[in-house]
Amino acid sequence: KNYTREDILNLVEEEDVGFIRLQFTDIFGTMKNVAITVSQLKRALDNKCMFDGSSIEGFARIEESDMYLHPDLNTFEIFPWRPQQGKVARFICDIYRPDGTAYESDPRHVLKKVLSETKEMGYDFNVGPECEFFLFETDDAGNPTTISNERAGYFDLGPLDQGENARRDIVLTMEDMGYGVEASHHEMAPAQHEIDLEYTEALDAADNIMTFKLVTKTIAKRHGLHATFMPKPKDGIHGSGMHLNMSLSRDGKNVFADEKDPNGLSKEAYYFIGGLMKHIKAISFITNPIVNSYKRLVPGYEAPVYIAWSANNRTPLIRIPRVSGESTRVELRSPDGAANPYLALAVCLAAGMEGIKNKILPPESVDENIYEMTDVVKNALGIEELPASLREAITEFQKDQFMQEVLGEELSQKLIESKRAEYREYRTQVTEWEINEYLQKF
Ligand code: GLN
Ligand code: MG
Ligand code: MG
Ligand code: MG
Repeated sequence: KNYTREDILNLVEEEDVGFIRLQFTDIFGTMKNVAITVSQLKRALDNKCMFDGSSIEGFARIEESDMYLHPDLNTFEIFPWRPQQGKVARFICDIYRPDGTAYESDPRHVLKKVLSETKEMGYDFNVGPECEFFLFETDDAGNPTTISNERAGYFDLGPLDQGENARRDIVLTMEDMGYGVEASHHEMAPAQHEIDLEYTEALDAADNIMTFKLVTKTIAKRHGLHATFMPKPKDGIHGSGMHLNMSLSRDGKNVFADEKDPNGLSKEAYYFIGGLMKHIKAISFITNPIVNSYKRLVPGYEAPVYIAWSANNRTPLIRIPRVSGESTRVELRSPDGAANPYLALAVCLAAGMEGIKNKILPPESVDENIYEMTDVVKNALGIEELPASLREAITEFQKDQFMQEVLGEELSQKLIESKRAEYREYRTQVTEWEINEYLQKF
């Protein structure tokens, strides 16, 4: 899409849009919006709509709380599930200061910055996200539960798959809005689903993930279900990841592909993997940003635990799918749906590009099952683990100056502070597991 201001004014008129949401994403990855009526549209298009940044956690300081929303015209979209008269539309916005400078802690800005540095080197960054989520029942008051009576598993279909109708509706709504969906299927756990979004340029990919979550939650609700992207809502069954398939292109050609290589990968692809692996512990702080994220990264549920890559094994941190040519890509399997997609793509790209700039080769691939290796073998091969808790991830991020520079001083400090507070709060909890385990024993 390439909308001009005139296009927008015409569309709004023709489509009888009555209400417009000016959306943006806070540093924790939560979508926020300021709603305006059509009477305010011209003001919005003149970048004159404002909000109080200090009221949004982790955003602006009180002294500089006036923030301006600059709508990205190409993100204009009409919500198909809202009334057909006085329709509801949205823009995704960039955040600016009153003096007209971009707000450097706006997550979308952070991604744009890394993307433009990448472009200067001649590359485009393309991403295909695999979004996993659960569809749970709601209680009589309409509140979400973790209950589902569904019994379906991987690739099952109806009537076992009770979320089938909701999932189909989500996919059709996305397509109605012009977003491509590559595939969708039931996942391993009961009530767990996956929808794979079309491969696109990275800024669109991040925008699309945000839109996708909104669509999924909205449509699920219409089916009386609650959609959750929480990484590990239930113990004992699989958690939900958000695997990121990534590649770089130059002049429209995928530069990760090299037919002569046994894995089908170019030098650039290996360096990109090298950079990702070098920074993965700090990256985890961004791609796995909540206490619960680390309950997913445990053995036994197809989620990565060890820092390794493979072209044969399906469960490592980094997998090279068996495809070639334009489809060649690197799949990072650690990210989860709690991640802010703008920041997640920014840190992955920056780490990968550092790998390319400094020609960082990854270690040998590991094609055996690491879960079955003894510690002695793992140590001999130099296989390390991902952070095991949010606390460890915070520490790793604090040690990684490069990653902090990618996000900028202010944003990094805000994230560290609030995540430390989150971890402190969690640590004060006494869990049911502890009561079961210790109450009688001690
Ligand atoms: N749900 C798994 C995860 O947490 C992935 C399972 C799969 O896609 N085969 O990453
Ligand atoms: Mg998948
Ligand atoms: Mg999956
Ligand atoms: Mg995958």
